[in-house]
Formats: sequence, C-alpha cells, structure tokens
Amino acid sequence: MAANIIPLVAGNWKMNGRAASRGELTKIIAGAKALTGKADLIVCPPATLIASFSSAAQGSGVTIGGQDCHAEASGAHTGDISAEMLADAGAGAVIVGHSERRKDHHETDAQVRAKAKAAWRAGLIAIVCIGEQRAEREAGNTLEVVGRQLGGSLPDGATAEKLVIAYEPVWAIGTGLTPTPGDVAEVHAFLRNRLTQRFHAGGKRMRVLYGGSVKPANAKELLTVPEVNGALVGGAALKVEDFLGIASIYR
Ligand code: PGA
Repeated sequence: MAANIIPLVAGNWKMNGRAASRGELTKIIAGAKALTGKADLIVCPPATLIASFSSAAQGSGVTIGGQDCHAEASGAHTGDISAEMLADAGAGAVIVGHSERRKDHHETDAQVRAKAKAAWRAGLIAIVCIGEQRAEREAGNTLEVVGRQLGGSLPDGATAEKLVIAYEPVWAIGTGLTPTPGDVAEVHAFLRNRLTQRFHAGGKRMRVLYGGSVKPANAKELLTVPEVNGALVGGAALKVEDFLGIASIYR
C-alpha cells in the first residue's frame, strides 16, 4: 500500500528576485493557509534574500530554502555559502545537485552527496536533484542514468524527514517540454523501488518531486501520477498565481 505522504511544492527562483520581491512572498504565505495539512510549500529565493524571506515567513508554515551550499561549514571558499550559513539566515532546506549546478559548475554525484550531508549537518532538508539529458533519454538510458545519479548523490542514513528527491529531466527544464505521464510514472516507480531497497521503510515515505516545465495547466496531469509527491517549480514559481495555482491541485 502507498505510504501516506504530504506532498511538497518547492519554488526555485534561480537567479531572480530583489528586495521588492518580498511582496510576492507575502502573497504566497497568504495562499499557503488554504493548503495547511494538505501540502507543504518551500520557496528557494537567491541567497541574498534568504534572511529577509525567512524572517517574513517565520511561523507561516512556508519554509525558505537555499539553492546550493558548500560541503564544508566554513573556510577559504570565496563566493560560496555553507549550509550552516543558510540555517543561520533562517533557511530550513536547500536544493543540491540542480542540473544547472551540475552543468555550470561541473558538480559530480560525489560532490552533491557531500552537499546533502552538509545540509543535514546544519539541520536542513536536502532537496537532491537528478535527471537525464535529452540524448540519454533518446538512447533509452534514462533509468540507468537516474539510477546512477540516485545511488551516487544520496548519502547513507537518509530519512524521509531530511531528504527530498527531485526528478527533473534536464531537457524539460525551462523548455515547456514535459515527459508523458507514463514516462514520469516509469521513472518514479523505479526511483521508489531503489529508495525502498536502500532505505527500507524510510524510502517508502520519502518525497519524490517531479520538476521540469510544471505549470498550472499541466500540474494535475503530472502531479497525480503514482509516486509523484509534489513538484520542483522554476519559471512558474516566479508568478505567485502560477505557483499557488500548481499547489492548489492539493486543496
Ligand atoms: P522550470 O524549472 O519549471 O522552469 O522548468 C524547474 C527547475 O529547474 O527546477
């Protein structure tokens, strides 16, 4: 029987947002009330806004997250931010291993795994992203690729409380293209199987999000696929109505 999992909708703002965007957060917090107990919301603004967003979101039930963290707690790493610093600024979660980080910063599964460990060390939920490239899907290698990324990017000791997985086909991110619900179902069933094999009861309860061109118009179709426990949303997370529109399928 399927475990009882509260879905999660996480918004990844990427390199967007200024101080004035706090008004958007206020609207998200207001909209989140209707979702209490039905779905959790996480907003991941750029690092510059984490402290102010966290203080605005305090007590609201909306969690603020970072988009990346360094594996170490402190040190000579110019420009980097540690998980401890994110926690200190009020964050409760952090995305690690997003495909844009894997591509732009050449992050490997081993580095992503170290970052997820760092997130836990700092008391943050780690949202670990995996997903195949277009050529990998066309070659029929999707399950092999996501299986390898999952195995390499997740540290031992993962629990459903501190780990979220986001399956994001790279070719679907920011393109308007999406896999069919059948393709999503195949990957999520595969991931659930792997998670349960490795983490047993915890693996049954871990949230596995779908990400890649999720918008209000396709949210229901994609997010009601078996073993999909929410969404990681990029572009549509920048418009409050769209972000809440996606989450509203859980109302
Ligand atoms: P998208 O991005 O919703 O704009 O496709 C998703 C993501 O990168 O997490």
